[in-house]
Amino acid sequence: MTTTPIDSKTQSAAFSVFGNTAFDNHEQVVFCQDKDTGLKAIIGVHNTVLGPALGGTRMWSYANESEALTDVLRLSRGMTYKSAITGLNLGGGKAVIIGDAKTQKTPELMMKFAEFVHRLGGTYITAEDVGMETADMDLVRTVTPYVTGISEEKGGAGNPSPITAYGVFMGMKAAAQHAFGSALLEDRTVLVQGIGHVGESLVEHLSNEGAKVLISDINQERLQAVRDKYHATIYAGDNLYEAPVDIYAPCALGATINDETIGHFKAKIIAGAANNQLADEKHHGAMLKERGIVYAPDFVINAGGIINVYAELEHYGRADVIRKTENIFDTTLEILQMSDREDITSHQAAFNVAQQRIDARKRSN
Ligand code: NAD
Repeated sequence: MTTTPIDSKTQSAAFSVFGNTAFDNHEQVVFCQDKDTGLKAIIGVHNTVLGPALGGTRMWSYANESEALTDVLRLSRGMTYKSAITGLNLGGGKAVIIGDAKTQKTPELMMKFAEFVHRLGGTYITAEDVGMETADMDLVRTVTPYVTGISEEKGGAGNPSPITAYGVFMGMKAAAQHAFGSALLEDRTVLVQGIGHVGESLVEHLSNEGAKVLISDINQERLQAVRDKYHATIYAGDNLYEAPVDIYAPCALGATINDETIGHFKAKIIAGAANNQLADEKHHGAMLKERGIVYAPDFVINAGGIINVYAELEHYGRADVIRKTENIFDTTLEILQMSDREDITSHQAAFNVAQQRIDARKRSN
């Protein structure tokens, strides 16, 4: 029997990992599969110059495998720059599990995933992301020590989301200082898109400060619960990207700043928790700058969670976690000032600072 060889051009057009624009010099990408539990996961290790690659595991019903791969690569790369700019001795990594966390996440699947994490021998350390709970990390901990974000009862630092929210709040206040000359958010109108673990906690900080909070989520029950708890208002317009607010806080999934949305924004500031908010970092970063919208780079202001889980590895306490998270205010302000001074986007300014730290460590190794 003869087989027709696939010519290399056809092959690369059909599927490319190294050529994927999100690949961006990843050190290692691991595809994990287990037929018995139905596990299909991808672990991305982007860079380990500063330390082991730490980043959460996301479980999501991706439309296809290519979408899952692109997501893990973009998220893992983001972790490299997040830890670098935050001054942590950590590299960047992330994992995705393909599937619906509500219906397909079983203890067996999580433990099998943990085995794959363990095989990497500490090159990658996991934690929670979308679709994961502290209890899942506790389960992973029964299989491997290479996990953070475990519960306080089990000796961990607990759920990182409230700290992430506090960091986002700090970054948002710094952006307000830059844009409005005052960090006080009292009477500012803020739209929080996605009121999950982080979003809800952000709503709490905002309402405590007297901001007018609008909320949006695809989960109606959460919307009503959060509205009632914090006296927030459910956003009722057709297109939330057109909302007449001072600040837009994306706290659901990434890439909400894209060709379709960018022309609609009325907000003067964008500051939220979601990872990879800019669909195209360079292009959309530049468009925001042209429009005079102050963008607090996601990987700078959503670092509270990684600061919290890093405490588990470095054994520092709550007071240090809070202090390091409050530093996000100064870092954000410096980045926004640098962006103006050097006439580059805020994303580029943050990226440059992070890259300089990685390069310096590389030279000294
Ligand atoms: P979560 O799953 O608890 O919350 C996400 C919320 O967004 C849910 O309520 C969901 O219903 C809602 N949502 C999904 N699609 C939506 C849409 N199209 N419009 C409106 N709402 C929508 O997740 P989380 O832990 O709160 O994380 C939120 C974001 O912050 C994610 O992008 C995550 O990667 C990022 N992040 C989280 C942490 C952390 O500590 N949890 C740290 C850094 C970054």
